[in-house]
Amino acid sequence: MNYLAFKEQKEKWIIDESREGSTILTIRVNVPGKQKKYPWSSKIHKYACEMLEKYLVNLAIAFERIELKLSDEYYEYIAFYRIHELPLCVKKLAIALENEEIIGRLLDLDVYDAVGKNLSRDGMNIPTRKCYLCDEAAFICGRSHKHSIEALHQFMILKAEMLGDKKVAMEGII
Ligand SMILES: [Zn+2]
Repeated sequence: MNYLAFKEQKEKWIIDESREGSTILTIRVNVPGKQKKYPWSSKIHKYACEMLEKYLVNLAIAFERIELKLSDEYYEYIAFYRIHELPLCVKKLAIALENEEIIGRLLDLDVYDAVGKNLSRDGMNIPTRKCYLCDEAAFICGRSHKHSIEALHQFMILKAEMLGDKKVAMEGII
């Protein structure tokens, strides 16, 4: 399945799911380039899901991890959660996770409200995300192809290697 077909199925499914009235959160690894699945991106993704679930348990927020039924395998590593909390609270938690020091920058967490609308960072007075490799905003470097995909991947591989024996830090989030 190509990316567009994947995205279309995903969005349709999120709208269907969010009709039930709870908040949907997706968690992905922000891998530059067309190919998204590597052993290291899988490792980062698994770690990120564990981190998220630990936060939710610690905050006593009820959630379920749900499976999106697709006609084909997922295009990228992505997990879907139904979270029994207001969208804005979930968005704040998502941003806290994205600011987590080891791999937060590598993650994309999207939060959808009860009508399947994605809550963007823009409306929330949060600074735009920085590039992995320099001080520029990530979207500027992405648009101008300032860095090679290999260099960006290398940064992520190093981060994935750091995860081995690091415990998920809870401080500063709650
Ligand atoms: Zn840059």
